[in-house]
Amino acid sequence: MAKADFEIPDIENGVSVPAIKPGAMAHVKYHAASEAHLSKLGFPAKRVDNWKEVALAKMNELMGKYKSLKLFLDVCVKCGACADKCHYFLGTGDPNNMPVARQELMRKVYRKNFTLGGKLFGGLARAEDLTEEVLREWMTYFHQCSQCRRCSVFCPFGIDTAEISMAAREIMDSIGVGQKYTLEIIAKVHDTGNNLGIPKDALIGTLEFLEEDVKEATGVDVKFPLDQKGAEVMLIVPSADFFSSPHVDSLVGYAKVFHAAGISYTFSSHASEFANFGMFIGSYDNTKKIATRIADAGRELGVKRIVVGECGHAYRVAYSFWNTLAGPFDYLDKNHAVPTHICEFTEELIRRNALRLDKSANDEFTVTYHDSCNVARASRMGTEPGGQFEIPRNILKAVCNKYVEMDPEANREKTFCCGGGGGLLSDELLEVRVKGAAPKAAALKEVMDNQGVNTMAMICAICKAQFTKVLPYYDIPMEAVAGVHQLVGNAIQLGGK
Ligand code: SF4
Ligand code: SF4
Repeated sequence: MAKADFEIPDIENGVSVPAIKPGAMAHVKYHAASEAHLSKLGFPAKRVDNWKEVALAKMNELMGKYKSLKLFLDVCVKCGACADKCHYFLGTGDPNNMPVARQELMRKVYRKNFTLGGKLFGGLARAEDLTEEVLREWMTYFHQCSQCRRCSVFCPFGIDTAEISMAAREIMDSIGVGQKYTLEIIAKVHDTGNNLGIPKDALIGTLEFLEEDVKEATGVDVKFPLDQKGAEVMLIVPSADFFSSPHVDSLVGYAKVFHAAGISYTFSSHASEFANFGMFIGSYDNTKKIATRIADAGRELGVKRIVVGECGHAYRVAYSFWNTLAGPFDYLDKNHAVPTHICEFTEELIRRNALRLDKSANDEFTVTYHDSCNVARASRMGTEPGGQFEIPRNILKAVCNKYVEMDPEANREKTFCCGGGGGLLSDELLEVRVKGAAPKAAALKEVMDNQGVNTMAMICAICKAQFTKVLPYYDIPMEAVAGVHQLVGNAIQLGGK
């Protein structure tokens, strides 16, 4: 079991509502963004002198722009239905990690500055000014929300804490108080086209290496083409797929699917990243800039379709916002969805019997499936309601003999977040990440102990990175983490050895 200098939640008998521990996570702080990154993304390089006025003006602007934000701040009746639904509260016991309390950090400032009752009665109306102390709370607890939207499923009014958390981060960036991890990554995408800052030469080297590797393993010339004009499909993947494990095994799986289907495809060096962290900081401008880069790359390459890889939040951006941010995609073939998820692409081939699959290639695995938040609760696949749940499962059942479901109370639309989403996947937030992973780790452990599961498949790069890091704290090996297309890649028959 991985060692930690903080207490690891006991998941042996599942995770229940913890005792309240006020301030339990107040000590966990994110690393501050550099002046260079703040200004590169269009924010003040450091905290502005009149930060309170600027923050309130930004809040007013956002409430005017996003009517839902003002509505969410107005309509909460404190019913408490969401209070025990956040994985960070369940894992930490910190009351500020209850969704309603997290919202309240912004709502009390809203009341004080934008409502008559708050202006007249102050604390009696649960109103509070935006003080240094309140700003510190915002900086802490709006970075202990992975914007997973689980709480909104249980709220009778559909109040979405994720949207409040995005707005809070946008307000903080607007006064020059930003988080290093997210801002640095967005800056890298603007500079190089991907999160990791991989230059084109390194990308070429990696893709050539993968071609040789797959040839050695299968005897087949599976291609990993880059910047190939006139290809049918542009494939956009999270850049972790090029280098990290187990992500790269899904990349090999995608390439094998294209090869087996005989459909030409290409990666783009201009847009070699599907992830779009602009959403995590609520920045319309930065989200748009990244999405536009992808739209431009597809146009330039002359492709007919855009297929996207295994990345949860990026799929949400693509599914929900690409058209508004970077559309119209009128250069693409209108017979295909924009974007097409790689799972939709592969499942359609499976349904047409266009792939030769040998399920026994995955017989060493007893597989379960983890629904990633942004796919489960913020997007859809296929043409039927719930397609985002069924399509990845249909693929897994087509490529594995042994498939087991986890507790639906911890999966599907009620899925627990991996604990590392929403821009929290940084080292200084490890304690939050480990504790926040407890509910999903408990659901996984239950099927491991009782049904022999040894593999949890998923379609999100952040989930893969987070789980490989944090599951060992629960005595679950990192090898339990797999991509859906990793298992597809194992089963697909290419005619070689
Ligand atoms: S992490 Fe998810 S469940 Fe928790 S407050 Fe944020 S959106 Fe709600
Ligand atoms: S469930 Fe909705 S209305 Fe009830 S406390 Fe939570 S946010 Fe407020």
